[in-house]
Amino acid sequence: MEEALVIDHLQKSYDQKQALQGVTFSVKSGTCFGLLGPNGAGKSTTMKILTGIIEADRGSVHMLGIDASEKGKGLRQRVGYVPQSITLYEKLSAYDNLKFFGEMYGVRGKKLQQRIKEVLEQIGLKDRSKDAVETFSGGMKRRVNIAAALLHKPEVLILDEPTVGIDPQSRNHIFDMIRMLKKEGVTLIYSTHYMEEVEALCDDIAIIDHGKIIAQGHLHELLEEYSQRAIYVEAPTLKEPPTSPGAIRTYPQGEGWMIETEKLKETMLYFLNSDVGAKVTRLEIVRPSLESVFLSLTGTQLRD
Ligand code: ADP
Repeated sequence: MEEALVIDHLQKSYDQKQALQGVTFSVKSGTCFGLLGPNGAGKSTTMKILTGIIEADRGSVHMLGIDASEKGKGLRQRVGYVPQSITLYEKLSAYDNLKFFGEMYGVRGKKLQQRIKEVLEQIGLKDRSKDAVETFSGGMKRRVNIAAALLHKPEVLILDEPTVGIDPQSRNHIFDMIRMLKKEGVTLIYSTHYMEEVEALCDDIAIIDHGKIIAQGHLHELLEEYSQRAIYVEAPTLKEPPTSPGAIRTYPQGEGWMIETEKLKETMLYFLNSDVGAKVTRLEIVRPSLESVFLSLTGTQLRD
């Protein structure tokens, strides 16, 4: 499969702060690629370099076979970018906002009218097209922002944390759109700090932390290689971490405790049969997740 994006050893500093310390990954054409990492990891910086908003200090970006540092090679017409912050004119209607952005991308006349109709349908806001954006919820605005990046039918769509602070309905809409775009063959590059989003949407994943890629590969490969098997136990009156035999690591999570272990059956039996000093109200085997991949790679939780 051909590669839509290859980035090699990107480095970027802001004053004294080294935001990227040699970021390298590639994205296969027609796939959804997830860049997953906690706040401050370097996701936005990477995305902004990809779209040419800022320049890297070192390293290279090849998008659709074109060296992105060579400006004017028509990449702008082939790539869409959805920034993290919403950039719409509040007083204008959704339609007029889209008209403005379409023209900025070089789409005009009948073709633009047709595309606006299509994208409004795609984001589920056809009925609200004449309403001023200031009357929209945060999630609806975000959907218009995504639509603005689709008017010129990009081959690659870059989305920087598109679901932060939005309602579940808009989030589902965005997920449906991404799945549809993938079916149409669009390459998607999606950054987020929500691991369940990359689990639900992405094929290949890179995990970024402190400006470095700490793991990358297919979701299943990462889970297989780094995820630790675990048991979750709730015992509300238990104040100290439980000490079950064979536990590799025990840490609090939600109302209970997470116990990482290779000995799932023995650990379950221990909590069912032993006197742990408190009534166990919930006991379950935890499905391997990117959360535990992150934890085993960094020693900290993604949601710290
Ligand atoms: P993320 O998108 O993963 O939250 P960012 O790429 O926004 O991470 O930030 C990476 C690091 O660079 C953080 O430590 C952040 O504080 C710093 N940073 C980002 N933008 C700027 C800026 N314009 N000036 C100074 N520091 C910045």
